Amino acid sequence: MSAIRLTALEMLERLVAFDTESHKPNTPLVDFVAAYLESHGLAPVRFPDASGEKEALFVTIGPMIDGGIVLSGHTDVVPVAGQDWASDPYRLRVEGGRAYGRGTVDMKGFCATALALVPEMIAADLRRPVHILLSYDEETTCLGVVDAIAALGIDLPRPDAVIVGEPTGLEVADAHKGVAMCETRVFGHEAHSSRPEEGASAVMAAAEMVSRLMRVGDRLVGEGDASGRFDPPYATLHVGTLSGGTARNILAKEARFHWEVRYLPDTDMSALMAEVEAIARAVEAERLTRFGPFGRIENHWEVDVPALAPQPGSPAELVALRAAGRNRTVSVGYGSEAGRFQGAGLPVVLCGPGDIARAHKADEYVTLDELAAGEAVLRRLVEGLR
Ligand SMILES: [Zn+2]
Repeated sequence: MSAIRLTALEMLERLVAFDTESHKPNTPLVDFVAAYLESHGLAPVRFPDASGEKEALFVTIGPMIDGGIVLSGHTDVVPVAGQDWASDPYRLRVEGGRAYGRGTVDMKGFCATALALVPEMIAADLRRPVHILLSYDEETTCLGVVDAIAALGIDLPRPDAVIVGEPTGLEVADAHKGVAMCETRVFGHEAHSSRPEEGASAVMAAAEMVSRLMRVGDRLVGEGDASGRFDPPYATLHVGTLSGGTARNILAKEARFHWEVRYLPDTDMSALMAEVEAIARAVEAERLTRFGPFGRIENHWEVDVPALAPQPGSPAELVALRAAGRNRTVSVGYGSEAGRFQGAGLPVVLCGPGDIARAHKADEYVTLDELAAGEAVLRRLVEGLR
């Protein structure tokens, strides 16, 4: 196969054309990228999920040795359903210096610049490798990257630094909060509301538990953020949904609520989870088992997207600051896969083109200038590996 060459914009057009909403397969996109890389004589490694419909991809350019830099991006995008787009979100539209389409800024723009530079990376005769890692499920669980991370230093080279290309306006971000997500299910016992001692209301127990969680949230506000890096400057606890019961005059058999904690890198989450369990046991005793063994409360911790803690002077910070021409790091308000790399002991920062404020919305775009500036940063990164 002859080598495929595409500009960053042409590559972006191809990537955007794959509808890779997180709940859909991304394999067609990965097939396309793999064929592109293979046309350049590279050997991408794929990490399929259990269904085989979603895959991560990892490729090394340059010597197959430890060290070098990972350029990491996610292939999945958030859904367009219910959004009012001026044009087809899955057909790149270039107008007035902007490229519109789902994922242009979050974050196929970064992926496109990294992939378009592959021929230059190959020609650069690198002493240390560049690796490109494309993941899936970033927008839902940040778990689509973990199999590839687990292989680093075992089946694959272990890099010195990871750059996650989330849109930071090409600032270097070294900190974000984590998000722990929980569904609490409350099981009571039905009885006529005129005879409350013959049952236990799941709805009322749920309300009691939510109110105690609110006090935990208040305490987190009071504890604040010693690092001064986060906005708002404290961990937050929020209950997003609450449902249960069937009628006013029946003690509710079931209730459930979905809630989250957005925590700081130094928040002791295992202590907080233990506290939540203790609250559940206390509410059970007071509200569900007072008149008999009528009910229970289960906390199901569904997803934990770990926080990113600053690592001043890390190899990732140093190479990214130099390549991006910055002299200080910033923090960002959103979560990312970066905490997963950090959890595996890999130095990591976020640095990518465009403004996160345009992500997840109708008429998402990245400007052509931003793409060019992002490409220039990647060129300087690659230059440092020659
Ligand atoms: Zn993203």
